[in-house]
Amino acid sequence: MSAKIFLPGATLGVMGGGQLGRMFAIAARRMGYKVHSFSPDRDTPAGALSDREVVARYDDRAAVEAFAREVDVLTFEFENIPVECARWASAFCEVRPSGEVLHICQQRLREKEFLAAAGIPLPPFARVGSLEELKEALARIGAPAVLKRAAFGYDGKGQRKILPGDDPAAIWGEFEGALSVLEGFVRFEKEISVLVARGVNGEWATYPVCENEHANHILDVTRVPGAVAPEVAGEARALAVRIAEALGLVGLLAVEMFLLPGGELLVNELAPRPHNSGHYSFDASVTSQFEQQVRAVCGLPLGATESLRPTAMANLLGDLWAEGEPDWAAALAVPEVRLHLYGKHEPRSGRKMGHLVAFGDDSREAAERVREARRRLIRDDWWDHGGGV
Ligand code: AMP
Repeated sequence: MSAKIFLPGATLGVMGGGQLGRMFAIAARRMGYKVHSFSPDRDTPAGALSDREVVARYDDRAAVEAFAREVDVLTFEFENIPVECARWASAFCEVRPSGEVLHICQQRLREKEFLAAAGIPLPPFARVGSLEELKEALARIGAPAVLKRAAFGYDGKGQRKILPGDDPAAIWGEFEGALSVLEGFVRFEKEISVLVARGVNGEWATYPVCENEHANHILDVTRVPGAVAPEVAGEARALAVRIAEALGLVGLLAVEMFLLPGGELLVNELAPRPHNSGHYSFDASVTSQFEQQVRAVCGLPLGATESLRPTAMANLLGDLWAEGEPDWAAALAVPEVRLHLYGKHEPRSGRKMGHLVAFGDDSREAAERVREARRRLIRDDWWDHGGGV
């Protein structure tokens, strides 16, 4: 039986209420689809731009089933939802990507074991479920290393670097017995990511390599194309395709990788959905990652992934609001800069509130512009007005 195709006019359901769902909703509605969003919160970034915002818990089976009855195809904007959700929904609508993909990618250990079995290069890792296992893993992998909780971790949450001489018992105490993964600390030259879309018939399309800089474990600036050798870019894109195929993915996948000084690539993490490093594509690509997710899950042909211009993206965290409303006009006075805000009400520290995108003749120039625009958000005259008192 051939896979079902959903044409404009159909209703797309998205699990999750964040900015990824918001941009997905914009792309889908622009193409004539209806969008329903589902999350436990009211007045969410995604809900504000959906035709319908459903507010219910992910473990509320009746609510998930009622939601699934109203949509033609269900997709995700984040992966940390109970896998039963996908199973319950699949009795009433198509679920793309499948619950199995969600199951693998929502737990680090499962994800790493899956990737290792598929022959994908990874940093050395070991399962840690007890103090004994942590000691054994440290003896094998050595320090420095990074201990990461297996479940519900992102943006460096639930992670701890372990240095030579640190006390494993004290560290294990902090993890409160949570199943974890110990990873060798990678002295990478760069962090990069590749987005790949895979359609219902196994066709795929990869985006150019993103070069990512993190601050405090959170993505800070992405530039595209990344400054990597063409062979490295080719290898990174090929790895992403291998992973999407091994997963049997229908949808979008972001693959985060470490690039080592010798050119070797190691896969760090997967996200089976649009990704922060792909936000640039909304402004700079022939087909944005969000439109590509729509096309992939609806069974439409995938769109071209080329960039129209070299570009860079800078995240705007809640910290920028510490001294009051950022100076939007000053930032937008920088040439070739665009602003995205997600409509979140509370600018908490570390919370992703929006992003800036800039263009340039090359991605280095774009990155300089986007950083300059972000610097200008903080008013120079703040000190003159007795700021901080
Ligand atoms: P993650 O949540 O696993 O993506 O980690 C967040 C960030 O922490 C990464 O983007 C890296 O900057 C850093 N990091 C994570 N794991 C390692 C590692 N094994 N070695 C070095 N840096 C790491």
